[in-house]
Amino acid sequence: MPAVFLGHGSPMNAIEDNEFSQGFRNIVKSLPRPDSIVCVSAHWETYGTFITAMEAPKTIHDFGGFPKALYEIEYPAPGNPALSNEIIEHTTLIQIQPDMQWGLDHGTWSVLRHMYPDADIPIIQLSIDRNADMMQHVEIAKTLHWLREKGVMLVGSGNMVHNLGRIDWDYPETGYPWAIQAGNTLRQWMADSNFSALMDYRNQGEELRLAIPTPEHYIPALYMLTQKQNDETITFFNQKTVLGAIDMTSFVIR
Ligand code: ZN
Repeated sequence: MPAVFLGHGSPMNAIEDNEFSQGFRNIVKSLPRPDSIVCVSAHWETYGTFITAMEAPKTIHDFGGFPKALYEIEYPAPGNPALSNEIIEHTTLIQIQPDMQWGLDHGTWSVLRHMYPDADIPIIQLSIDRNADMMQHVEIAKTLHWLREKGVMLVGSGNMVHNLGRIDWDYPETGYPWAIQAGNTLRQWMADSNFSALMDYRNQGEELRLAIPTPEHYIPALYMLTQKQNDETITFFNQKTVLGAIDMTSFVIR
């Protein structure tokens, strides 16, 4: 099963018919239909690693100040508690804890509702451990690889360049030069599987420091890139910088 990274951007992409939502709808045509999805979302950070294990995860509207229509969206995809428990048992590197409280945050449903509008594929979320460093995240990501052999699609949802403090609504259709440069650099490192640079982004210049002021939107991309085997390729789509400081680039590993 391919591994997919989705640049989710503004929550408004959940309800807008735009080039990005069209990109999500188009890419799904080239993907095999998964039995279940395991999603690492930028919007679920915890201390330790957790996995949703409920039968019916709720739709979480984890944002403020958006139109009412966005809060009315429900994405009633089922969970898959049996698979969650299997992942917990299979993972010996770390102790993954079952979670019965979370659900599907907008990092997950705002993009997956375009890909699978019928909400009929079970979805599990895996949290991002705030205590883990980049090396540990890569090691955790590697332990998920077996799921791809079982018909489970691994999905990461974030943005490789994401600086909310620098967002500029006067630049809806492009990015600052540093944001564009950082996106180009990251895509090149990803295409080259240059993990040492990707993990050491803090020491790779001012553009990268501005692009990734906090790591939570970047880490899901690293989880997916880690899935790339030697005979696989990375294909980018939705490659565009918006609002000055957000890169929407998404990719498929297969
Ligand atoms: Zn986000």
